[in-house]
Amino acid sequence: MHELGIVFYVIDQVEALAKKNHAKKVVGLTIEIGEVSSVIPSYFKECYDWAIKKTDHMKECELTMVIVKGISYCQKCKKTYGTVEHGRKCPYCGSDDTYLLTGSDVSIRDIKVT
Ligand SMILES: [Zn+2]
Repeated sequence: MHELGIVFYVIDQVEALAKKNHAKKVVGLTIEIGEVSSVIPSYFKECYDWAIKKTDHMKECELTMVIVKGISYCQKCKKTYGTVEHGRKCPYCGSDDTYLLTGSDVSIRDIKVT
């Protein structure tokens, strides 16, 4: 389950931010999960709930997950399309000269501290 590694990575970053800002507690965390990031939100949440118990600042931190749609760009016809629906092949012109614009990352959008 590679979600656990990502959870630890996110928690490390949030804990570092909390320390830097002299926060007593982090009470809310919003993360963006890309639709094609290979992170399964329900696994992520499970790992998160377990992992925060061991942190200094995040024991009561509420997690909000925002799913970012996977969007690909076709270099041949310059159109964008949904990656999950169509994969690497452009649905407009059939080219596979495409790349992912958004939806591959997991990132911290916002934290709430007290
Ligand atoms: Zn195309």
